[in-house]
Amino acid sequence: MSKSALVLGAGGFIGGHIVSRLKREGFWIRGVDLKYPEFRETEADDFLIGDLRDPLICREVIDQRFDEVYQFAADMGGAGYIFTGDHDADVMHNSATINLNVVEACRRRNIRRIFYSSSACMYPAYNQEDPENPNCAEESAYPAAPDSEYGWEKLFSERLYLAYGRNYGLQARIARYHNIFGPQGTWCGGREKAPAAICRKVAEARNGGSIEIWGDGNQTRSFLFIDECVEGTIRLTRSAFSGPVNIGSDEMVSINTLVDMVADIAGKVIHKIHISGPTGVRGRNSDNQLINARLGWRPSMTLRKGLEKTYAWIESQVNGTAPQDFSASPSCESSLLDVGANDYARERTAVDALPG
Ligand code: NAD
Repeated sequence: MSKSALVLGAGGFIGGHIVSRLKREGFWIRGVDLKYPEFRETEADDFLIGDLRDPLICREVIDQRFDEVYQFAADMGGAGYIFTGDHDADVMHNSATINLNVVEACRRRNIRRIFYSSSACMYPAYNQEDPENPNCAEESAYPAAPDSEYGWEKLFSERLYLAYGRNYGLQARIARYHNIFGPQGTWCGGREKAPAAICRKVAEARNGGSIEIWGDGNQTRSFLFIDECVEGTIRLTRSAFSGPVNIGSDEMVSINTLVDMVADIAGKVIHKIHISGPTGVRGRNSDNQLINARLGWRPSMTLRKGLEKTYAWIESQVNGTAPQDFSASPSCESSLLDVGANDYARERTAVDALPG
């Protein structure tokens, strides 16, 4: 009999890629989300549209033992969503409620192990003020001082899963993701993150044109290509190590460098216009010593290679040349309408959407 997996948040970016990977391994998969994937048909065998803030829905979808359970569902987005303060209450309430319901439904169903997707946004702001030398080692998490409510919720939920481990024997596997990017990720509409926003802006700009960047562009980050994220996630879930552990690239670059790299891939001269906007911490980089020591693995793909694949995909979306094999795939305009966005959202998704 084939193994079974439950993927919560399977309509989203990382969840969708995990479904594809597990399918290739021969799993029977149930996916759950508020929506179907936006850019392709789901490969899940069973896909339930449901709101995980509802405890009854959680108990309905967690109605059997699964060999593997992945929890990606969250109310999240890039800096234009997380750092403005406008969505703080929703982000905390929605994501915490999902995790409270999911972990309790797992306990009732005697699920033994669950993967939980935390974020580098839970690291203290005071260790990320120097763009050249941020500290994101796992043990630096406390005293806690995340710079966003999104990060506080992630920290709370990490502790929630670990508490269920201590008291009820649930084996949590917790990753702290650092800026995951790649094809089939949100690229417009207000929730997109820096690599996707930059690729879109560059694809839309003419050769010799300009794009806006929030802040001075000297803030630093690292970005992990989706295939490596999936590999690290699956290795961690199947390992004996519970984490929390960073899953991220340690190739740290400034946002200005990121823009130059994308422009070079596009073969365009692009000028940067620096404007004020939410930028998050000054520096952030994945510290990969722990994952290397415990799993004998660390991501290795260069940022450039991941950006080449991502730019090609976003350019095809922008130009409308993507294969139209999925009629439900929305255009940028329709997803703007979906989130109730307006010109503000379109303009303010400049190029530095940087949460963990
Ligand atoms: P995503 O927004 O593409 O996926 C999250 C999915 O959760 C969405 O499809 C959304 O519809 C679904 N969801 C939200 N509320 C729900 C609800 N009430 N019921 C059911 N489904 C609901 O995000 P992603 O980039 O795939 O991220 C997956 C996870 O990884 C999230 O928990 C996120 O916080 C975490 N993470 C992501 C990154 C990154 O760079 N992408 C970085 C750090 C952490």
